[in-house]
Amino acid sequence: MKLSGNKNQCRTCDTYFNSNTAFDMHRTGKHGLNRRCRTPAEMLALGMFINIYGYWVSEPMRKKFYAKTDTV
Ligand SMILES: [Zn+2]
Repeated sequence: MKLSGNKNQCRTCDTYFNSNTAFDMHRTGKHGLNRRCRTPAEMLALGMFINIYGYWVSEPMRKKFYAKTDTV
């Protein structure tokens, strides 16, 4: 998968993220102590989801789509 802009990939679990914000939300715990990746279930619980390109995003951007298409 080609990475561009703010897109990035977690080196630990190979998951793709659409932004640094999304990646930051993916990682939890303290550095050098209990730093780890969140599971997909945990990320969903935070309101994150995977977009159609396979990248995790920090929020659905529902407003944007809503304004454009009038559908969610
Ligand atoms: Zn990870």
